[in-house]
This record gives sequence, C-alpha cells and structure tokens, in this order.
Amino acid sequence: MNEVEHVKTILANYPLDKEARFRVSERAARWLSQKSDKKSDFVTDLLQGFELNSPEGRSMMELAEAYLRVPDPKLQKQLLRDKISAAGWHTNSANNNVARFTARAMKLAKSLYQTPASSLSVPVEKVITKTLMEKLAGHFVCGRTITEAVKNVQNNAREREVYSFDMLGEGARTYEDATRYFNVYLDAIAHIKGVGNMSVKLSALHPHFEETHRDICFDDLLQKIILLGKNCKDAGINMRIDAEEERRLDMMIDLVDHASQAPELQNWDGLGLAIQAYLKRTPHTIERLQTIAKRDNRSFGVRLVKGAYWDTEIKYAQEMGHEDFPVFTRKRHTDLSYVYCAHLLLEAPNLRPAFGSHNAMSLAAVVELANQDKDLFETQRLVGMGDDVHEAMRDEGYNIGVYAPVGAHEDLLPYLVRRLLENGANTSFLKQSGQNDDSVFEEPYDLIKNSDIKPHDYIKMPVDLYKTHRNSLSPDLGHFEVCTSLQKSINIHVQSIKIDEITNDDTGALDQKFENAHKAFQKWRLTTANDRADLLEKFADTLNDNRDILLGYLQAEAGKTIHDAIAEWREAIDFCRYYARCARLDFIPQSLNSPEGETNIYTREGRGVFITIAPWNFPLAIFVGQVVAALAAGNCVIAKPSEETPHIGDFVIKLMHKSGFPKDVVTIALGDGKVGAYLTNHPKCDGIAFTGSFTTGKIIQRAIAARDGAMIPFIAETAGLNAMAVDSTALPEQVVDDIIHSAFGSAGQRCSALRILIIEDKAAKNILPLLSNAIRILKVDDPSSFSTDVGPIVSNKQAKDIKRSVSELKAQGSVIAEAPLNTKDPRYIAPIAIDMSEYDFPNEEIFGPVLQVYRVKSIKDSIEAINKKGYALTFGIHTRLGSNMRMYASMINAGNIYINRGMTGAVVGVQPFGGFGLSGTGPKAGGPDMLRAFARERVITTDITAAGGNASLVAKDETSTGGMA
Ligand code: NAD
Repeated sequence: MNEVEHVKTILANYPLDKEARFRVSERAARWLSQKSDKKSDFVTDLLQGFELNSPEGRSMMELAEAYLRVPDPKLQKQLLRDKISAAGWHTNSANNNVARFTARAMKLAKSLYQTPASSLSVPVEKVITKTLMEKLAGHFVCGRTITEAVKNVQNNAREREVYSFDMLGEGARTYEDATRYFNVYLDAIAHIKGVGNMSVKLSALHPHFEETHRDICFDDLLQKIILLGKNCKDAGINMRIDAEEERRLDMMIDLVDHASQAPELQNWDGLGLAIQAYLKRTPHTIERLQTIAKRDNRSFGVRLVKGAYWDTEIKYAQEMGHEDFPVFTRKRHTDLSYVYCAHLLLEAPNLRPAFGSHNAMSLAAVVELANQDKDLFETQRLVGMGDDVHEAMRDEGYNIGVYAPVGAHEDLLPYLVRRLLENGANTSFLKQSGQNDDSVFEEPYDLIKNSDIKPHDYIKMPVDLYKTHRNSLSPDLGHFEVCTSLQKSINIHVQSIKIDEITNDDTGALDQKFENAHKAFQKWRLTTANDRADLLEKFADTLNDNRDILLGYLQAEAGKTIHDAIAEWREAIDFCRYYARCARLDFIPQSLNSPEGETNIYTREGRGVFITIAPWNFPLAIFVGQVVAALAAGNCVIAKPSEETPHIGDFVIKLMHKSGFPKDVVTIALGDGKVGAYLTNHPKCDGIAFTGSFTTGKIIQRAIAARDGAMIPFIAETAGLNAMAVDSTALPEQVVDDIIHSAFGSAGQRCSALRILIIEDKAAKNILPLLSNAIRILKVDDPSSFSTDVGPIVSNKQAKDIKRSVSELKAQGSVIAEAPLNTKDPRYIAPIAIDMSEYDFPNEEIFGPVLQVYRVKSIKDSIEAINKKGYALTFGIHTRLGSNMRMYASMINAGNIYINRGMTGAVVGVQPFGGFGLSGTGPKAGGPDMLRAFARERVITTDITAAGGNASLVAKDETSTGGMA
C-alpha cells in the first residue's frame, strides 16, 4: 500500500475522536509545563544551540562519531583541528549558556589553530574533548560495563521505573564477534537479575542476519534466542528482541514464531520484541504476533517505538531501486501511525504493550487510548532523553521503562549519533518543544486532515531518484516470499539454458555482417535521435521484463551471485535509459551563432559500423552499454561478446531485435580473440569500442595505427591496479565491510576491484584482525544459492593463473586470512589477504579474490608510488579528516575516487565510470560524454539571403531599409 493510501486508511479508522484529541493536547501541554522548574541539561542545551545541519552541527556530529575511537593521539588532534576549523561557531541562542560557552571555546580554539605553528594549549583542548565528547557519550550511556550500569541503576533506583539493559553497540561482523556478544548477554543476565530486563539485538548474534542468508543463520539464531530466553526465564527477567532494519523483520518474526513454540520457553511470558511505527507494515506485524501468541497460549511483551533507522531505510530503498519505501516519508505520518498501532496493541488480548517515545503528544494519546488505566501498559524512554514527560507521567503513577545502553563509549558511537539526530533534528518533538513551538501540541490527525495528504516533497521515490532517467527497480531481497519465488523462477530458467561450446564465426560470415550492416546504415543514419532513444527505452523495458531469465544466464554462464547478478541486470537497464536521454539532448540539430542572413546548424550523427568488444566479467552490463551507446549515436553495430560468455550476448541481441532494432542494424559476432582481431582489422570497420585487458587494448590500438585509409576512433576501457588508503581515523567496521565487498565481491573479477590495501600502521592493529575474521566467514560456493558470497572464477584456465599468482605471493608474504573452501571444483578460489608490507607494490592486477596488504608509515608516499605504476582506474580513501580527503584526492591518479565507501558498483549517470593512463582512453561509461565519442560532427552553413538582399532582416520593425523609401 502506498503512503497516501495507508494514511487514509488510518484516518478512516482513527481511534481518537475530537474530544479525545483535545484531551491529548491538553495533557501533553500540562506535562511539559511542569518542566520549567527543572534545571536544564547540558546535551539538550547544546543541541538547542546549534542546528544539526549547520556547519557547527555537522562538525559536532563528526567529532562525536570519531574522536573517542581514534587510536593515534596525533590524528586525534588533527581531527579536532579539522572539525573545529570547518565551522564558524555562531550561535543565536543568547540565553543558552552551554551553547555560548561552546561557541566561545571553539572560536578560541579555531583562532589558535590558525596561528602558524601554534598548537592548541592543553587546557582548552581538554575542555573540548573531555567535557564535550565524554559528556555527550556519558549522557546517553548507562555504564561502560554491566557491573557499572547495574550499580548506577541501583544507586538511582526509583519507584515505578524498570531498566532494560542493552549490552552492545552495533552488529557482529564475524562469528567471533557473535560468540563474544552472546557470552556478554549470558553474563549480563546474571548481573541484571532482580534489577531490570534485557534487550537483545539479533544482528549482534550472527554476522549473516540477512534474509538471503536464512539457510545459514536461522537455526543458529533460533538456538541462541532459546538459550538466552531460557536463562532469562530462570533468572526471572524479561528478554526483548530489538527492532532493526525492515529487511530483517520477516526473519525476526519467524524466529519469534519458532521460539514461541520451543518447549524450553513454555509457561514464560518474558519473551518480547520491539516494533516500529514508521513501517507501513506494522499493523500486520501486530496482527501476526497476536495470532502466534494466541496459538501458543501465551503473551508477548511488545515495545512500540517510532523507529530508529529512518534515514538508512530511505537511502537503502533508493539505492537498491525498491518499488516503494517501507517507511513513511513524513514525520507526521509516523506520529499518526504510532497512535493507530498503539490502539491495535492495546486491543490485542495476547500482547502486553510498552510505548517507547519521548513525544508528549504520542504518550498522551496512549494514556487516552488506555483510558488512563495504569496497568495496561508501560512507557519507555532512553537513558538521557525525554526526562520531563516521563517524570510527569511517573508522578501520575504510570510505570516507566528505561532503555539503558551499556558499553565502552567508543563502541557506542553510532548509537550516540542516532541519539543526537533524534534530539537535534528539526522534526523532533524534543527540539520543537524546547523551542516553545506551540504547534507541537497539534494532534497528528488534525495536522494531516487539515492539509494535503502527500509524501514528503523532497524525498524522491526510488524510481524517480535521478533527474536524467528512470531508475531501474529491483526485487527487495529483504523479504522471504520475494527470495523464495525469485530463486524458484531463476532455477526453472537455468534448467532451460543450454551452455554449449561455440565455434568462431567464419570470415565469410563476418564479411557478410559488415556488408549487411553498411547497407542497413544508409537507412539507420536517417532515423532521428528521438526514434532511437524510444527504441533504447523499449529495450530497457524488455530487459526489465526478462529479469529472471537474464539472472539465470548470469548465474549459469558467468557464475554471478544473486546480488551481483541483480546489480548487473539493473546497470544494463540504466545504460539504456541514460543513453536514451543523452541522445535526445545531444543529437538534435543545434542552431549556432550566426550573422544576419546565414544559418549554422550543428549536428552529430553516426559514423557507420562500430565494432564493440566486451569482456566476460560484465557480460550483460558492459556488453549492453557499449552496444546501445553506439546505436543511440546513430551507428550500426557488430557486437562481439567474450568467448567465455557468448550465450548471454546472443540472448541479449535477440531481445534487441524483439524490441524493434532492425536485424542488420545490430548483429552479433561469436568467437574468441581471433574473431575480435578480424573485426577490428576489417577495412569496413568505422570505429571500435573495447573493454578488456590492457594487453588486448594495446594490440587493437597498434592494428588501428597500421591501417590504411581513414583513421577510426578507438574507445578503450582497460585494466586497473586499484588501491584503498586507510588512516586511523577511519571507522574499522565500515572499512572492513568496504574491503570485503570491494576486494572479494564478484570473486574479485571486477575491473574496479580493490587489489592493494594501504593501511597506516596504527590503524592496522585494529582493522586487520577484524578483516581476517570477516574473510573467514565468506561462503564460497555455487552462486545459485542466495547465501553464497563468492562464486567461481569464470574459467579453469583463469583460475589456474590466479592460483599460480597466489602461490607466489604466499611464498613471499604472510597470509592474513583465507576463506574456507568446501568444493573441489577447480574454478573456485578462496578469497585471501596477504601481508606484503616487506615488498614493493605489484605492477599488475591479479584478476581474482586476492588482496595484497601494505602496512605503511606514509599514505602520501604510497599514493605517489602507486601513481607511478601508470594505471588510473579506481582508488578508495577511508579517513574522517577533511584535510586528508582533499589532499589524497588531489594527489591520486584515478578516474574514480571513492571516499569512505566501497569502491565498486559505479552507478550509471551517478558515478560515470572509467580511467585514464594504462586504464583506458575515456570517455566514461555512463557519463555525459560517452555518446559523443561515437559520433561524427557536421556543421551546415547556409546563406539564406535572396540574391541581392536579406528579406527577413529588412522586414523587421524599425530597421533601416536604405534606398529611397
Ligand atoms: P581480454 O582482453 O582477454 O578480452 C576482452 C575481449 O577482447 C574479449 O571479447 C576477447 O575475445 C577480445 N579479444 C582478445 N584478443 C583480441 C584481439 N587481438 N583483438 C580484438 N579482440 C580481442 O579481457 P577479459 O579477460 O575478457 O576481461 C578482463 C579484463 O578486462 C581485466 O583486465 C579488466 O580489468 C578489464 N576490464 C576493464 C573494465 C573497465 O571499465 N576499465 C571493465 C571490465 C573489465
């Protein structure tokens, strides 16, 4: 259901009538009015003083996220300097002492930084770091250890307040993490006994808590939930499973379903979970939970919160190209949904609700819905937040739960950032109520009823994300049903796909193709760019409609995992739509500057017959990208797929003909390098687009140089020697995720893949052990299983070459980690990271899942050394220092530089892709100049004056005609 429909349904079934809504506003206002005599708190004042999206707010957030965890004191100082210097430190809050003090301290620090050679005097630095950072972290965290937290709670124990302890920061990256976290939970249960309850995060208990990996993680998670539950049951405490991203919800509910039936957890009502009102599906979740609980004759504790991952959900759905968002885009819709879900929970006989919110209006609505019955529910707040409202409610006799994160401050930084966002965002109730904004007391029903019901104006639906073209959509693999039906459908197709030996097209057949293509060109060159763009768009739709069979081809012939296959299929579609748009823009005749009496018309048009030559590693996306670029520019095309993946190419060309491209306008030539050479040497070849190795590219370039007759264009995209530089301000978990993805995704068979990791010595200590564990959990297997992380190498021969290189490296360096390999199939290679710090950087890529690691003292020197190798394709940087980002980016020779993210998966029109130097000639694939490289240009100049005079000029008003008139 879309957002508007959903909101309308809730409005039609809204549980509060006009009088009730009035009472809600009154109650909320009363609670908040009681706060005036309380002394203000540091964090709230700070956040009231600086807008989060101002330079000051951003600097504070960035410091909060990184400062405490940076292991190198020198870089810690540099980070401070960097972030403080990035803002002006103005605050408009004249009466806000905290903000004024902070602004003054920061301005002073900044001025000291700007004095040459001065370093910040120790006391000021201490004030900033200790007071600001530790105070921020300490404000939201209950204790660094469970013992400390329990002691804190016992010291501050108050009536009608029950604590729920959350032991951890973020999710597990490795099995070691998961076991450690599990043991921390077990240990905590003993401490918590008699003091509070426990919150459990499933992503901390398994590194693969993802729907696609259900076969690997479900049983393990279930056993852990049952064991923890049994321990909680014995200790007499409740266990609540925390809410996470929507893509994990299906599995989470299924786990609760199974756990609910476990004999160990019978006769125990302590099992519960948190659900999020910002999800459109939450009413159904409530219904399902009620059904399970009733079936098993038990009750669940259910905590309703607004939702913790809103920005993540929006970005994820946009990037993945999902049909819609799982969340509401507007805060007011979530507020409305909260009240509606609260009503459903209170009505569900087998669910015991707790309401986690800091919004006085939402809580006042709960009180109204429950008819002020204090036994029907509990409210919840987070440590360090929402004290005023909850204090007022406690005074009125309501039971308050407090969610209490426990852990070292540096482990809880992402949590801290989420709290700052919640406190400081402009849509936040806390922020608005702090500014005495009376509109906060408007009930969401009235707010929405009195305005247009529509999604947020500034948040683009995934399909509308790009200005230039329609975004390709993809199946949402976060859902059980989607995964199972997709897998079934792909398997059926795979069975019907025949992968047999192909033979080289003979030269007679190839000559004939040139003949036919040139004939076809006479007509094709007269088509308009708009007509060609229409065809490209139609073909994009055909690719879209043939999703499952194309994914089948990619799995069967190219060994792609499901994620890689989907990404490639989407990229092919994006190429078509983006180039269609480029054709419409660039290939219409343009009128140029001209004197009176003359027209100058500039046109671009096709050159003739283009040869496109593709590699096997993107047999769909690159193959399609080259072909449609040439066609959109008005050329005819003879397309040669790689000899390793001819069937995908063949199927694609058939789809093109089905979509309306005339048969001789685009044809396929099958065969190996010999066929490639014949085509590129052919006298009737008018241009070449090639993607593949540097060696082959060079052979073609030499052949072109040796040709007689016209000089033809050559567009080449070749190899890379890609590195990632990591300093010690980087976030280790994020770095490791990005390394794994960039180096081992697609079994390292991406031209953009990470080959050389350059890591500062101080960062290596934290990051390499994490990396080692993360490599060891990779599942290297048949790609037809959705939980496979790394598939095979495309051919035996290539696998053999890679294995030889690995043996050589192993003989020199020391292995950091190697993934387990459970198959005897020689095409599979275990992803491996090898420390090569004692050696020089390599001269060439190894086109497989092999990462060479260099611990270094100076990133700058390493960048210079890599630059000297001559390749210039991709480069990654991980640092939180703006000054380093700018410096490294300006030094690095690479066509695509990625900062603080993975370095593969360039998106058409978003990250136009391609390098220079030994990596290619340009222009970038998926970029604005691509089509132009396939075209020839003409200018037609016409004298439009009649012989003897310029009639149109003379006919204009108030011009002098001269003569006698
Ligand atoms: P390859 O050079 O061996 O083959 C590429 C294509 O060229 C194949 O279709 C092949 O049949 C053809 N070919 C071979 N010899 C030829 C000749 N003499 N004349 C004309 N055509 C000939 O490369 P590959 O192994 O298929 O692909 C992997 C390489 O491609 C890696 O080096 C990778 O870095 C590079 N690559 C680059 C990009 C990029 O965008 N820069 C993208 C993908 C792959």
